[in-house]
Amino acid sequence: MTRNSDDRRFAELLHHRRDRLAQGDPITPPLVSAATYHLPRVDQGGFMYGRMSMPTWEEVEAQLAILEGGDCVSFPSGMAAISAALFASVSAGKRVVLPSDGYYTTRLFAEGFLRPFGVAVDYVATTAVEAADFTGAGVVYLETPSNPFLDVCDIAAVAARAHAAGAVVIVDNTTLTPVLQRPLELGADIVVAADTKAPGGHSDVLFGHVATRDAAVLQRVKDWRKLSGAVPGAFEAWLVHRGLETLEVRMERMCASAAVIAARLAAHGRVRGVRYPGLAGDAAHAVMLRQAGGFGFLIGMELESAEAAERFLAECPYLARSTSFGSTHSAGERRARWGDAVAEGFIRLSIGLEPVEALWAAMAGALER
Ligand SMILES: *Cc1c(COP(=O)(O)O)cnc(C)c1O
Repeated sequence: MTRNSDDRRFAELLHHRRDRLAQGDPITPPLVSAATYHLPRVDQGGFMYGRMSMPTWEEVEAQLAILEGGDCVSFPSGMAAISAALFASVSAGKRVVLPSDGYYTTRLFAEGFLRPFGVAVDYVATTAVEAADFTGAGVVYLETPSNPFLDVCDIAAVAARAHAAGAVVIVDNTTLTPVLQRPLELGADIVVAADTKAPGGHSDVLFGHVATRDAAVLQRVKDWRKLSGAVPGAFEAWLVHRGLETLEVRMERMCASAAVIAARLAAHGRVRGVRYPGLAGDAAHAVMLRQAGGFGFLIGMELESAEAAERFLAECPYLARSTSFGSTHSAGERRARWGDAVAEGFIRLSIGLEPVEALWAAMAGALER
């Protein structure tokens, strides 16, 4: 189902420790939570203090670097990665162009902590950003497909125009993960992502990362982590390392099931509308074919009202009624309850690992009731 599932990097990821192993070393990375390290001298490198670097971060960063095609810095959450990338890229007087329809908390962050420090914050819809005016922009920030409505933009086209205007391009790649989309290869300068979602994959860890090929940006993001103290815990890094080992096979199942479910929802009389980039008629389809290796596991479905949507979620035994997405279990949430600019009956579905016919039977039954 994913068009890049024979990519060698998914094999490399599983063997990335190979060349560093000595006789008797564990094959899996040890969980090292030490805050302090043997340090008779400070001029010989190595680990010193846990806020500066930690062995278990480096293991997960090595995996992420293989997937992203760039250097990676890990963070304790997606928002910690996003705020690090923004603080590393903006200063007073700069203009930041953010998606008006992306992850809500990113906008709250910009309003609460960028604008008060003299950063000009502008919002552009994801579908309008290809033609937007970037004059004076220091940062153009994209989220494609956007969460929750799954609108997309052409990353390479926007990056070319943003670079011509002198802006840095940051892409929040959470909804597809680097298994399906690699913005650095499409011309983005910085990738941010919530590994809380599919990469961790089991709803039991918060984590995030920044990826870049720019050495100066990398240094600034690392300095931000060290000086702000927004450091991930060793156990969380270890859990995400474990999650990343199965990410590609989980994505394969989740995307294959999402394609089946989306097509059946689109044909169902009780469903008013479906957003899934894999549907040939979806507005996102052509761009996704060009820049992503698959269409993801998120589906937007609209029922006639808030009541109908809540009833459907309550009646379906295989949809966890929770926020967030990308976990082993399918989940559904009516997004208007958070104030997202979507219809009252709009549900964001995250398709998980359940056998697809069992999942569909549960959903169809809930739609009929
Ligand atoms: C969840 C999410 C985030 C934030 O991640 P946290 O780990 O919750 O901080 C950022 N961007 C997108 C698109 C998300 O879905």
